[in-house]
Amino acid sequence: MNAKRINAAAGVIAAALVGRDSSGAGIAAALEAAGLLQSPESAAEQAQLQDDITGACLARHEEEQENDRLRARVAELEALTPAQFQDCQTCGAGYEYGQPCQRCEFRTQMAAELAKAPAEDPHPGGAS
Ligand SMILES: [Zn+2]
Repeated sequence: MNAKRINAAAGVIAAALVGRDSSGAGIAAALEAAGLLQSPESAAEQAQLQDDITGACLARHEEEQENDRLRARVAELEALTPAQFQDCQTCGAGYEYGQPCQRCEFRTQMAAELAKAPAEDPHPGGAS
């Protein structure tokens, strides 16, 4: 005899007797709901599974909240109109939105031209 389980069952039966359904079936349902109609091992396993489900539901709820927050942020950013003049992420110069950075384009063209004639001396006949 397990005094703890008997006391628990007695409490559940007493509560069922003053509750809405004090029939034999109502008392049995109250004992089943309290996990007293199964072995302590399977009751513990059921409680663990219930905790796992609760944890998974909480994690999913938090993920859904984060997704909603991120969707709202995306909508907020998509609604923004970019400023007409932007700072180039490469060189820092200002450029018009939608156009290439003129300073970077100039540097690219200069590098290409200098690469074509690397041996050419820009100051022929200069002091050496
Ligand atoms: Zn630039």
